[in-house]
Amino acid sequence: MYCKSCQKEREVFELYDGKYFCARCRKEIDFGKFSKTAADDGDFTLSEILFHEAIASSSRSVRDRERARKRATAQKAKAVALCKRAALNGHPQALLRLAYYYETGSAGIDPVTSFKLACNFYRRIWSYDKGAGAGVTEEQLSELKRIAAERHLALLRNIPAGIPAHEARRYVYADLKKEIARHVTAVNEPPKTSADIARAGNVEALNDLLKAAMRQGESPLFGLVCLTGEEFAEWADAPAPYDKSGRSDAAYFSNLKGLTLCLISSEEAYRITDNFIASDFKKEACVTLCFFTNRNRKTAGCAKRLAKNDFEQFKRLSEHAVRLGMLTYVFYPDDVLYFRNTPLESVGHATINLVDYVMNEEA
Ligand SMILES: [Zn+2]
Repeated sequence: MYCKSCQKEREVFELYDGKYFCARCRKEIDFGKFSKTAADDGDFTLSEILFHEAIASSSRSVRDRERARKRATAQKAKAVALCKRAALNGHPQALLRLAYYYETGSAGIDPVTSFKLACNFYRRIWSYDKGAGAGVTEEQLSELKRIAAERHLALLRNIPAGIPAHEARRYVYADLKKEIARHVTAVNEPPKTSADIARAGNVEALNDLLKAAMRQGESPLFGLVCLTGEEFAEWADAPAPYDKSGRSDAAYFSNLKGLTLCLISSEEAYRITDNFIASDFKKEACVTLCFFTNRNRKTAGCAKRLAKNDFEQFKRLSEHAVRLGMLTYVFYPDDVLYFRNTPLESVGHATINLVDYVMNEEA
């Protein structure tokens, strides 16, 4: 992406809250005016073709389904990457499409982050007020803002699966409607569905999150989920839906290679292993389940060190999450790498910086 302060194309860090920072000078990337260059238009068009082709090919092939599925997944990932490049250069249609990719879970990341980013990107479009830049007309702009506003409202009307109930409650439809009315007029309200903020319980959402963290392309480094003690015990002792040998969720997930699970209660932090007794925590008002993955080469070894040496940070973050109404956080390698000021600075230290940032941003 183009960094105005370096005046060069730079690698960027993508943070958990949807902000972008230059990897060299560490300044936030200024998105500037919505505009289109021929190159961005080319990226966007190619991404559209690839995505449609991927959908068509995955439904067509009968003979070698598995291979066709893998190929389609890789093609979708390429489509999303091209679309993202155009979007982050200010191409407004690409930005709208990118929000849609996050909304539908096509971007290959966990459902909680995907949902947050979809909301962020829709908001970025409907709240845009810098005027049309090169290659974009005012009419196109106001039409895009209307579409983004309607999609955002519809998204909150029917929050997708995999979002914990407490997380979904932070997104209030009526508040969004009021906010949008200050920026866009003549918005058609989406029909009210029965799914209005009714979510699958936190237990199912936790399974979705852990499954996504372990399976998908860009894997998170760590995350935490707040649950009531009751919910945690229910989750831990239930038979894991993906395990043929009938183990419990706690036994199944804690034995997955590359995943470490810990529980923070009001008193202590525990590593979750095979013989963990979840029912001991039933009476706790709120516990935090932390997960650490170890699959990304860029940050190999980090999760282990975080779980071992820097656990105090997670306690702080978990207390913060509980105080703000039981939040869920998922962090990717970029979150930690951005807060590492020199290559020699330890991951643990970078995590301390990250936690400080989160607590300041959402105080
Ligand atoms: Zn820079």
